[in-house]
Amino acid sequence: DIRSIGLPEEGGSVRLTRRPERLGKRAGHKYGHGHALVLSGGVGRGGAARMAARAALRIGAGLVTLACPPAALQENAARLDAIMLRSLRDAEALKRLLEDSRLNALLLGPGLGTGPREGELVAQALAAGRSTVLDADALTLVAGDAALRDALHEGCLLTPHDGEFARLVPDIANRMSGPVANGPAYSRLDAAREAAGRLGCTVLLKGPDTVIAAPDGRAVINAAVHGRAAPWLATAGAGDVLAGIAAGLMARGRDGFAAGQEAAWLHVETARRFGPGLIAEDLPEMLPAVMREME
Ligand code: AMP
Ligand code: MG
Repeated sequence: DIRSIGLPEEGGSVRLTRRPERLGKRAGHKYGHGHALVLSGGVGRGGAARMAARAALRIGAGLVTLACPPAALQENAARLDAIMLRSLRDAEALKRLLEDSRLNALLLGPGLGTGPREGELVAQALAAGRSTVLDADALTLVAGDAALRDALHEGCLLTPHDGEFARLVPDIANRMSGPVANGPAYSRLDAAREAAGRLGCTVLLKGPDTVIAAPDGRAVINAAVHGRAAPWLATAGAGDVLAGIAAGLMARGRDGFAAGQEAAWLHVETARRFGPGLIAEDLPEMLPAVMREME
């Protein structure tokens, strides 16, 4: 039960994720369903961003644009159809792109790279103040740069796994003992909450039990112990798809806390539906079956 994973008793401010509200597109123009921008890395490393972009489109963002360095355009063009493609040389080009206020959700990190160019892109993206998911390489960049950490804002959703979390907030991670049978003194829930409060944005701490914590102290658990296990999710690229689902939900108007919860729920549900043999590319394609049942 809930106490067995070291959580406060039910009735407190902690609850388990619930099935999301219906997600189907209502009648309307595609521009009314949001436009997600996914930043991708260079040649040969775009797979993570492409999978994330497909997930964002599948979950119902009206438009998804993938922006990549000029050299990677050709490779991406050969693999994407419904997803729009933009060449993006540097942070200055991103600034111009973000003058389009219809780009209402950003995804930074999967396959992005961690060099100076990418650091500047992340800084520029954060300065725009849009709903923004930070995962993977973007988390590494933020962990290594106090100015980027200071630039995080309420519209940000961070999706670290334990390793990324430890780089981001090492002192908090050190106190975290993980879910053990007799109730740890300081759980992943406590850790995610403290990190969210400190960083001033929503933190989704990934694992078999995923915690989603808002900066105001609200927290929710997508817990494997409640029959929601999907061990097949421990596969390359699964986290990138989760980030894409969250970015798509943010494009649809969800805030970071709601998008994090719904994305975590859908991610596990989709993986459970697929079962063994799952690879990350299957997840975006399997989403419609789960969404259909929610109509
Ligand atoms: P990443 O490490 O970024 O690829 O993310 C891995 C994803 O798989 C996250 O969404 C985790 O919550 C999920 N995950 C990892 N291990 C397990 C597990 N044993 N059971 C269920 N989900 C898992
Ligand atoms: Mg990852």
